[in-house]
Amino acid sequence: MKRAVFPGSFDPITWGHVDILRRGLKLFDEVIIAIGVNAEKQSMWSLADRQGFIQEVFKDEPRIVVKTYDGLTADFCKMEKASFILRGLRNSLDFSYEKSIAQTNKTLSGVESIFIISSPGASHISSTIVRDIARNGGDYSKLVPFKVN
Ligand code: ADP
Repeated sequence: MKRAVFPGSFDPITWGHVDILRRGLKLFDEVIIAIGVNAEKQSMWSLADRQGFIQEVFKDEPRIVVKTYDGLTADFCKMEKASFILRGLRNSLDFSYEKSIAQTNKTLSGVESIFIISSPGASHISSTIVRDIARNGGDYSKLVPFKVN
């Protein structure tokens, strides 16, 4: 069983994440979406909301499982018996950041990081931009896969 962990804050999940997840399902038997609980990072949406949005989007996809975790991603992968970490790459900034994290995770636990480059038309989407729009009362419905009230 090829199992991957797709870690992130998902504050909130966007079409950018969905793009990577759908393509990841072609490589792995199961993908665990792992919402990191970071005490220092103030989120805009509650953990329950973030989890709920994702569950709604993937309710018909049994090969996607949603979990929350704190601590090191490498430890979480070991606990879940996942040999792979799935991440998306939008640009060279993502690459520089991800490179050292992937190398550290490999050293810490041998877990292999697999990167998928965002589809054309999806690389401008980020949770940060969605939060900025939401904070300023704008319409971000085109950027996210869940229903916006
Ligand atoms: P983090 O807080 O760890 O950056 P995010 O929830 O922002 O977590 O992102 C989780 C993963 O999804 C990361 O690998 C990120 O690069 C990827 N990702 C986010 N948006 C996109 C996008 N538009 N295209 C491709 N990958 C994306």
